[in-house]
Amino acid sequence: MRIEILNTGTELLLGNTLNTHGAWFGRELFKLGLRITRQMTVPDGEAIRDALAEAVGRADAVIVTGGLGPTSDDLTREITAEVLGADLITDEAAVRSLEAFFAMRGKAMAESNLKQALVIVGADVLPNPNGTAPGIYVPPRLNERGNCAIFLLPGPPRELYPMFHNEVVPRLRALSGIEAFNDVLEMKFTGIGESDFHQGIDARLAAVPGLEYGYCAHVGEVDLRLIGNADALQAGRGIALGAFESNLISEDGSSLERTVVRLLTGKMWKLATAESCTGGLIANRITNVPGSSVVFTHGFVTYANEAKTGLLGVSPESITEYGAVSEPVARQMAEGALRVSGADVALSITGIAGPGGGSDEKPVGTAWIGLAIKGRETLAVKVYHPRKRKDFKQAASQSALDLLRRTVRG
Ligand code: AMP
Ligand code: MG
Repeated sequence: MRIEILNTGTELLLGNTLNTHGAWFGRELFKLGLRITRQMTVPDGEAIRDALAEAVGRADAVIVTGGLGPTSDDLTREITAEVLGADLITDEAAVRSLEAFFAMRGKAMAESNLKQALVIVGADVLPNPNGTAPGIYVPPRLNERGNCAIFLLPGPPRELYPMFHNEVVPRLRALSGIEAFNDVLEMKFTGIGESDFHQGIDARLAAVPGLEYGYCAHVGEVDLRLIGNADALQAGRGIALGAFESNLISEDGSSLERTVVRLLTGKMWKLATAESCTGGLIANRITNVPGSSVVFTHGFVTYANEAKTGLLGVSPESITEYGAVSEPVARQMAEGALRVSGADVALSITGIAGPGGGSDEKPVGTAWIGLAIKGRETLAVKVYHPRKRKDFKQAASQSALDLLRRTVRG
């Protein structure tokens, strides 16, 4: 079913009001197993005419929002009637509910409000218990231009959302005949580039009947979206896990830091961090997770050499001999953080964010990550993320959190 959304309102194009209806309809319709095929935003007034005429000739249903108010720029009702070659009449029941709306609030109704009781002949009036403007449903049979259903809905979310659920959803269900809904599975992976990820599974995903899938890359993360019935999802999930299970962050939309906090909580392990090049980003990400206070104890930001030696006991000789960005320093930072904090596990990072400060041996983008765990040998790994400063920090924090995730998971 082709469904188009037409959002009206000059404020949406001036950038005064963020058009949130498009995303909201996308989510709500998806739950019904339906998709938006096109979304348009036009200013108030005459611009609605062309947009609506086009949409009606193309779509099976058009949902129009806004422009049902009492003011002179609220023309959605009138223009829709013109586009359809239909007449408007005053709906007596709508007049009475308008009068009741104002009486309840002890206010007199302005004459201009009466135009909100105008409806297209033969259309359904959609009650609006939360405002003055009723919605209008024009069934496909009234529309001589095509075979398209039209919904005219109010702009304010508190009026629109209930009207959508109460009045639009049942009609869309009947129109679309859809009963079995598609499901969606969002899997997040890390530690693998988008193209390798794609290469590793794409051909096999393509062969699953009825499976729709897509990728979305972020810094240090690839998301795989699977859509289909339960069997198709199971098959797609099996393919992705078969190839990249060790890279899996979550299957419920959870971020890497949330997964790490969950794993640490499960083990009842306390975490401390010692960060240089990420400047506290790892601690920030961890503490963005509700409930992180159960696991997080200390976040050291030791940017200068003196901070590394003074706070964490890193040996000045190691810094002189190997440099601040080196395996021995990463290890000592993690071990120092573990000792000072009394935590069970400490994660450290030291690297070259750039743009200056790189060398042939240690180019910009190099970072060493250390992981010290009580009673175990300290781990250290080198990563390389030659990116702009902020992306470097994000990618480096991602690598560090992923090392922690893999280690805690065991
Ligand atoms: P209207 O029904 O066009 O008079 O809309 C009234 C109010 O609803 C606007 O001032 C906005 O605050 C809100 N609104 C209308 N359209 C949208 C939209 N597409 N996204 C978010 N808010 C909207
Ligand atoms: Mg408006």
